[in-house]
Amino acid sequence: MNATPVATSLWARSRSLGAAIVELALPGVCAICTAPLGRQAGPACLLCWSRVPRLSHPQCARCGHPASYNAEAGDPCRWCDALPPFVRTVRSVAWMVTGGVASQLVHALKYDGWPQVAIGMAAEMARLRWPADVVRERACLVPVPLVAWRERERGYNQAHVVAQALGAHWELPVHAALARTRMPSSQTRLTPGERSVNVTRAFTVASAGAPHVQGAHCVLVDDVVTTAATLVACAAALVDGAARIVSCVTFGRAPAIGDRRSPLE
Ligand SMILES: [Zn+2]
Ligand SMILES: [Zn+2]
Repeated sequence: MNATPVATSLWARSRSLGAAIVELALPGVCAICTAPLGRQAGPACLLCWSRVPRLSHPQCARCGHPASYNAEAGDPCRWCDALPPFVRTVRSVAWMVTGGVASQLVHALKYDGWPQVAIGMAAEMARLRWPADVVRERACLVPVPLVAWRERERGYNQAHVVAQALGAHWELPVHAALARTRMPSSQTRLTPGERSVNVTRAFTVASAGAPHVQGAHCVLVDDVVTTAATLVACAAALVDGAARIVSCVTFGRAPAIGDRRSPLE
């Protein structure tokens, strides 16, 4: 039976009363610096967002890595060395350095139960510049899948919530087309070479996702890229599933050896 207007109004009032009580009990503060949020939308304040250490320019046109090589002299980009031919482009917003603002925002998204951080991340990601062919061709966003037990524990896949927020900016659909084929070992203590072996063949296109990726230029979405091993393994799975080509976008990027770092980190 449908609720009557009176019941609906009482319900709405009780909900707004509940929200007001929560606001009184928990005055809004920035999840990063704990400054009062005032009228700013949380969970992070505008000052913290302004302190995100963006990747500097010039960047490699393909992988988006700040050029620490002599690009004008035609030197090859070392970061591109990790990318197979079916990865068209990669872009990231910010440097990930332990204790830095970008790392704290990712931590809030992944471990502190703040999926709303994805909205701010996606706004930053939507401002990234791409080659014209990628903008023209990109057909859908595909989040990097999370290990099932971790998604159950967290209640969401952070890559998926970032992809949904970015899809709203780009007006593109989000397809969770990838699945994990097996449980990888923890990546944290592995060398880059070991990580690469660990994630190879760890992903596949789920049968429900196959029609969405076939022949398409898919854009993989993750919160952070460290060595590109996970992105490359996911891109390989998409191409195995008949995607035509893959681009990748992440909020954070780990510096490689020899990178210049932002003074703000
Ligand atoms: Zn703050
Ligand atoms: Zn490059």
